[in-house]
Amino acid sequence: MTGPAADFAQLPLSPQTLANLAQLGYAQMTPIQAASLPPALLGRDLIAQAKTGSGKTAAFGLALLANLNPRRFAVQALVLCPTRELADQVTTEIRRLARAEENIKVVTLCGGVAMRGQLASLEHGAHIVVGTPGRIMDHLERGSLDLEALNTLVLDEADRMLDMGFFDDIAKVARQCPAKRQTLLFSATYPEGIERLAAQFMKDPQQITVQAQH
Ligand code: ADP
Ligand code: MG
Repeated sequence: MTGPAADFAQLPLSPQTLANLAQLGYAQMTPIQAASLPPALLGRDLIAQAKTGSGKTAAFGLALLANLNPRRFAVQALVLCPTRELADQVTTEIRRLARAEENIKVVTLCGGVAMRGQLASLEHGAHIVVGTPGRIMDHLERGSLDLEALNTLVLDEADRMLDMGFFDDIAKVARQCPAKRQTLLFSATYPEGIERLAAQFMKDPQQITVQAQH
């Protein structure tokens, strides 16, 4: 299934990032990575659909890291996830992908976790925030999270977030992001609400679907 086109080395990634991917044991891109990384690294908005376990986190993770300036200590990427468990997994994967770069700080902000620690983390600053829509909204309303420097917004597991009734929170968060940004939407399925999200919050998104192959 995989051929030379699935080699990470074909992507405009730094030598350190390529070496880190090799160390992580990522020898080849998965099909969703091979389909979504080239347009994502060109700055396109994407609606990417592929089943669970297909490597979607690295697809958006490498794209948001490519947009990031480590020397600018401000929140440049926000990843919205449906649950705390998924947000923790995304944070872990982004930290692994980022470990070859300069110190990149990732903060997780989810409901059901005490505010105090989250407020302290935000005061120390972060490059990347991963969290659930409700809690991210709380921080925006309190003024403890500033998205002025944001350049990448990721909606991960968008189908599940819609199932859980997060449309309005996602909409409110997206409205607080700078208009000039890249928006990447990842989903395992393609329910009707996704088109509404795309129409309201994405710019000419490229649609990518990778069918289950085995
Ligand atoms: P999804 O979000 O599509 O459900 P994940 O991003 O959680 O999938 O990835 C599933 C697993 O595959 C993770 O353990 C991840 O580390 C691993 N993985 C991702 N990309 C690659 C790759 N190119 N080569 C090998 N393993 C990978
Ligand atoms: Mg995932």
